[in-house]
Amino acid sequence: MVKPLVVLLIEDSADDAELLEMELVRGGFRPTIRRVETAAEMRTALASEAPWDVVLSDYHLPSFGAAAALATLQESGRDLPFLILSGVVRAEEAVTLLKRGAHDFLDKGALARLVPAIEREMRESGERAHRRRAEERVRVLSLAIEQSPVSVVITDRDGIIGYVNPKFEKTTGYLADEAVGRPIDFIHRQDAGAETYRAMWATMGEGREWRGEFCNQRRDGSLFWEHATVSPLEDADGKITNFVAVKEDITARRSYEEQLLRQANYDDLTGLPNRLLMLDRLDQAIALANRRAALTALLYIDLDRFKNVNDSLGHAAGDRLLVEASGRLGECVRDGDTLARMGGDEFVIILPGVDDGIAVQKVADRVIDTFARPFVIADQNHFVTASMGITLFPADGTDGQVLLRNGELAMYKAKEQGRGRSQFFTREINERMQERLHLEGNLRGAAGRGELILHYQPLYRADGDSVVGMEALLRWQRPGIPLMMPGGFISLAEEVGLIGEIGDWVVATACREACALLGPSATSATRVAVNVSPRQLQNPAFGAWVERQLGESGLSPQQLELEITESVLVDGSSETENNLRTLCRLGIRLSIDDFGTGYSSLGYLQRYPFDTLKIDKSFVAGVMVDANAARLVETIVTMAHSLGLETVAEGVETAEQLAFIQNCGCDVVQGFLLAKPMPVADVAITLKKGWSCY
Ligand code: C2E
Ligand code: MG
Ligand code: MG
Repeated sequence: MVKPLVVLLIEDSADDAELLEMELVRGGFRPTIRRVETAAEMRTALASEAPWDVVLSDYHLPSFGAAAALATLQESGRDLPFLILSGVVRAEEAVTLLKRGAHDFLDKGALARLVPAIEREMRESGERAHRRRAEERVRVLSLAIEQSPVSVVITDRDGIIGYVNPKFEKTTGYLADEAVGRPIDFIHRQDAGAETYRAMWATMGEGREWRGEFCNQRRDGSLFWEHATVSPLEDADGKITNFVAVKEDITARRSYEEQLLRQANYDDLTGLPNRLLMLDRLDQAIALANRRAALTALLYIDLDRFKNVNDSLGHAAGDRLLVEASGRLGECVRDGDTLARMGGDEFVIILPGVDDGIAVQKVADRVIDTFARPFVIADQNHFVTASMGITLFPADGTDGQVLLRNGELAMYKAKEQGRGRSQFFTREINERMQERLHLEGNLRGAAGRGELILHYQPLYRADGDSVVGMEALLRWQRPGIPLMMPGGFISLAEEVGLIGEIGDWVVATACREACALLGPSATSATRVAVNVSPRQLQNPAFGAWVERQLGESGLSPQQLELEITESVLVDGSSETENNLRTLCRLGIRLSIDDFGTGYSSLGYLQRYPFDTLKIDKSFVAGVMVDANAARLVETIVTMAHSLGLETVAEGVETAEQLAFIQNCGCDVVQGFLLAKPMPVADVAITLKKGWSCY
């Protein structure tokens, strides 16, 4: 096979060059020869792209020579075989140049050695290049490891450290000298991670790669987290000679993850497990109780009148109370129990594996007792009790969500019974809940099906003069079912979000019917009073909607009065306030209903544009039997008048009560004594009769 050969020839004799070429061809080469005679020519040739295989140099040239040619080659940085050809070989000269780096010295007269020499030198040059590349690779690799941004540890096959990189020294605080000769896990935290390291050694023992996270300890004792990959290194025969561990400091990531985990599972304010984690623990408790055929109890706790503290002292004070309450609750439970905050002022305690209801009652009593002590906030004692519902697995539910819901229902029952007490979930509570669900289903769309009607109860001037208005009272009429009073469904409608739809129907219907009854003009002072739920006032569109109803019905604003309970004022949201102002601007009368039963504050009466104050019927009922109630009614009337408000006494049932109310100077009376709420058809007659019905 003919081998190509690119030769750089330093030679002044063309004849010699020709001889040389012939020799090369004879030796099996297909030579490409570039002949140069000066150092400059040689430099240019070397600087070119030509793929030189070998440099052949005559020993003596007129202006050049082998010594200078060798120097020129070395200057160029190219590693090429350099063979000297000479007519006369002198031993000293040959030795000098061979020492300087020439590869062979040949006699021009005996060129038979030329081809083998070139072949040998080219082979060696190839090997040299290969070795150089390998060395370069090792150099770069070792630089990469030395300067690596992650720790690198190399051990022998038994896991004894032979090398650590500077990053390892920096991360751990141990110098390479201190690390070398010690086992790879010498930095592991003494009291932890043994399990992980055991797994690592086992995997390494099987010659497999291992990945994992460790908590390690620096030389100064501080802890840090590392993610490590430990891989075996094999020799050419596949035998493991070493392990290399690449380790990344993940302390920052770990703490971020832990923080996220905490945020997702714990309540910020109290540090207690949140609803999510509670549900998880509840599921675990249920699974455990299932396996052991044991009981699990859930205590659903709600603080009583917490809202008062929040509203009157501010949220910061409310927060402090919640933190203290959670501390007290914590003292009522044992290790293994779960105390969680559900949000707001609601907490849940899970007692896994309880013996019986008596044991649960004991914990419940402890909780109730712990709230007997006042909470000291802003140097004042505040008594905040707790109401609690209790459910048991499996009797009251086999599913966490069901237990929780039943616990909440039982808690409501405890509140109903007077707060500050505990209540086990019962069948009766369950039935009531089923009833409510049923009711809710039926109430949806009731207005659309024409099942809602309004009754009207006349309001009279207390001095016996005339009818001043009537209050629209909602009734639910279904075929074959007794007429349902609002007490039976209004609060449900509020809870399940149906009050908007129902309330809108009431306003629209009352405007329409009242306009027909009272006449479209504002000449008569007679008005229709409509009850409005706080929820309706939270809807930003409410004011505008009422205005539209007036327009569509033809009722004048002065003929409409909206009755609002005190809880609306406590709410204090900007939507409520805006709605009240809009209504007032329209000229609609505003009345405060059931005054005295809610969270009374005279400040509210001044702040909002009210026209009327309705004294709750519970006070009116008491005036003849309870001196306090009597005094209260007198005081309310006086106070209302001084604020420029008209007063209405509701629930007047007896002549004595009426006489008392008249005596107080109260302006308007409403009650069964004078007229009961009646269907719209009967109102027209009553309005004509005026005071005469009494
Ligand atoms: P309220 O606004 O205080 O209405 C007066 C209630 O007292 C009416 O009960 C009325 O029938 C009753 N009442 C009137 N005179 C007497 C009396 O002499 N003695 C006694 N014992 N009661 C008397 P009703 O119709 O059952 O309504 C109860 C409550 O339901 C109302 O109290 C009001 O808060 C609410 N409500 C009624 N209609 C609506 C409505 O359309 N929307 C909203 N949001 N609530 C309504
Ligand atoms: Mg009312
Ligand atoms: Mg009332």
